Amino acid sequence: MISLIVHGGAWNIPADMVEAHRTGVAAALQAGWKVLAGGGSAVQAVESSIQVMEDDPTFDAGRGSFVNALGEIELDASIMNGTTMRCGAVASVQNIRNPITVARVIMEKSDLVLLTGIGAVRFAKEHQLPTCKNDDLLVGRELQRWKKLQTQKKFSPKDAFRGTVPSDTVGAVAMDANGIIVAGTSTGGTPNKHPGRVGDSPLFGCGTYADSAVGGVSCSGWGEGIIAVVLAKSVIDKMEMTGADGDAAASYGIQRLASKVDGLGGIVLLDKRGKPSIAYNTPRMARAYRTSDMNADVVEV
Ligand code: ASP
Repeated sequence: MISLIVHGGAWNIPADMVEAHRTGVAAALQAGWKVLAGGGSAVQAVESSIQVMEDDPTFDAGRGSFVNALGEIELDASIMNGTTMRCGAVASVQNIRNPITVARVIMEKSDLVLLTGIGAVRFAKEHQLPTCKNDDLLVGRELQRWKKLQTQKKFSPKDAFRGTVPSDTVGAVAMDANGIIVAGTSTGGTPNKHPGRVGDSPLFGCGTYADSAVGGVSCSGWGEGIIAVVLAKSVIDKMEMTGADGDAAASYGIQRLASKVDGLGGIVLLDKRGKPSIAYNTPRMARAYRTSDMNADVVEV
């Protein structure tokens, strides 16, 4: 059995942006599926899928990310191998086009877990990973949004998930032919965020978690709330401790987010057999999945 699920954020995706989200998650699924179908690793599949969405300006990850209050782009990303239990993450990192790749190298080539800001950039350079300019990540849509936000009353990150403010974080969970489950997440965070603000995405147990004996999870939504309920690990615990199936565990996670902190968000997961599940309490969530039991991709927004 091989299996892959990807997501491109959970929010009120407007009708005129649905097609771009559909195309984006479909392309990400194809990139990761090609790796798995060719006998590649779940780590490589997750990295490849997320890279495609980091490069696609539709999403709030890599190029196309939201801009912080200072007009800079600060990125968070994480990846976790559920068999070795090794993990790697970057937070508040600038000038990196594919932060998921830096996260992977931290996981595989160091004994560290999480690097922030200039330390993460230094690590990337030490490992000959490419850096870029802030402008290489900035797209006109986000510059306009940022300019507009400077003239408006400040809103909290929580409010960002209430209206039509985008929440286009990306993520992927893969299971390879060796039964290794890997989860990863990448984001530009929230629009006009305070410099240095870190959301759930680079925090293990919150936005990302994998344990090949149980399953793997990637989240999107209101980061501060997701951190407070330790969303990804709560979902894994639900499966491990109560024997809940993936659908029940994913719904439980979203109910917990809603009931404990009045939060909005979405979850994609694979259970230990590679069965995909999705749950969200936003109007839409962009996602795509495939398993070796299926003969076509499923792409839904
Ligand atoms: N969870 C992300 C964050 O709070 C945002 C998102 O999912 O779009 O940084």
